[in-house]
Amino acid sequence: MSQSYRSTRSSAKETQSFEKTIIQGLASDGGLFIPSEIPQVDAETLEKWSSLSFQELALEIMKLYISNEEIPENDLKELIQRSYSTFRSSEVTPLAKDITGNGEHLHVLELYHGPTYAFKDVALQFVGNLFEYFLQRANKDLPQEQRKKITVVGATSGDTGSAAIYGMRGKKDVSVFILYPTGRISPIQEEQMTTVPDKNVQTLSVKGTFDNCQDIVKAIFGDVEFNKKHNVGAVNSINWARILAQMTYYFYAYFQAIKGAQSKVKFVVPSGNFGDILAGYYARKMGLPVERLVIATNSNDILDRFMKTGVYERSDDVAATLSPAMDILVSSNFERLLWYLARDVMASGDDQKAGEILNQWFVQLKTEGKFVVDQAVIKAALVDFDSERVSDPETKETIKEIYQSSQNPKNYILDPHTAVGVCATKRQISKDNDSNIQYISLSTAHPAKFAEAVNDALSEFEGYSFEKDVLPDELKKLSTLEKKLKFVEKADIELVKRTIEEELVKMGLF
Ligand SMILES: *Cc1c(COP(=O)(O)O)cnc(C)c1O
Repeated sequence: MSQSYRSTRSSAKETQSFEKTIIQGLASDGGLFIPSEIPQVDAETLEKWSSLSFQELALEIMKLYISNEEIPENDLKELIQRSYSTFRSSEVTPLAKDITGNGEHLHVLELYHGPTYAFKDVALQFVGNLFEYFLQRANKDLPQEQRKKITVVGATSGDTGSAAIYGMRGKKDVSVFILYPTGRISPIQEEQMTTVPDKNVQTLSVKGTFDNCQDIVKAIFGDVEFNKKHNVGAVNSINWARILAQMTYYFYAYFQAIKGAQSKVKFVVPSGNFGDILAGYYARKMGLPVERLVIATNSNDILDRFMKTGVYERSDDVAATLSPAMDILVSSNFERLLWYLARDVMASGDDQKAGEILNQWFVQLKTEGKFVVDQAVIKAALVDFDSERVSDPETKETIKEIYQSSQNPKNYILDPHTAVGVCATKRQISKDNDSNIQYISLSTAHPAKFAEAVNDALSEFEGYSFEKDVLPDELKKLSTLEKKLKFVEKADIELVKRTIEEELVKMGLF
């Protein structure tokens, strides 16, 4: 099958290649890219897939979304091998089965065994290799000054910058610049980002707030001249390659959870920008018989409110919660789900019409801060999804409860994002009261990354020690390594642009 991609906001028939989709990130009309068709997998194929390794499964899935003419199968296989060789677990994303051991079938899908101890590694390790692959192919036989390059620029409030850095480090003709607010991220987060010695990596510590950093990055993306010169690339969660790479663990965990039994499976996903759970939606639409996908939000609950009311409305302020990687106002990937809902419920399956509807909704969101959908749209969404909102006190309580009650292994420690998901899972278990359901709760970060929240929940327990029970040796060592960072004295776009260009010269990339 030859696969191509279209924009969610386009009412034209045009489609484009996978390569262009990945390099460009966002469509020029402001929409997101989606595959022109969702490939279908039948029961017989699923049966065959059920015994594959993570890497083998990734290859089978990705082959359906990337045509062989674009990336020959052997190259794709090699890209996948390389991307997951950096993980500490041979299974890449192992499933901790039945952690409570009391017949609840509560399984925790550990997505944090990559180099930065966070789930974003699963996608970003692959994206970095993909960028390099496309560039090397285009640059073959070209003299240095004509070589195409990608300059990745991003802002982070601390949690996600390191995954982008570790994804891009050492990649040929790729550079990465991550802006973060000076003094406003935790020591371990800063250490993770600044101790990467590769020449093509530069962290920029900007005097200002996270919003200042994000505004500068947005302005850089909007700067046509700078873009033309440096081919600025985004690796944020709307990039299609990230969604694609995340599909693998839904299939992989599903097969492990049912192990041949006739049971139903629910996935519960701590959600912010809706990228993680959207991969589960694609898996379901491809034919994986998932009973339901449960969205778990913290008090930044635009998704939960939408699912309950049909109103998609941004609030005025982001609440700072114990699960900061989910502190969002709008959920960027949600647009992709909305497109499918608009097409199937309102446009009788017409792709062109769906693009028009999406356009109207997002114009309204921009001008009025909200839009409202028909109840029929919500009804359709509830076939695939359910949602739960979890508060900070509940998050903390869940970390404690699982620490005390877990059996496999004993004293299992959740990070606060994972705890939001596990709290939501517990609610689902008691609502469903159905022993035929297996619950897969996605664990998105290692607890060591969120020391403050974890210690706050667990320090009252005798015998608990962060150093001993939580902190891996590899992260302990970071504080002894040399830091490489550049201070930017003022949150000013011209100053940041100048700094990037100076650094690119030093990297030999400009
Ligand atoms: C990014 C992130 C999330 C949220 O994932 P989305 O794809 O944005 O929904 C949850 N937990 C952690 C630790 C993250 O880094």
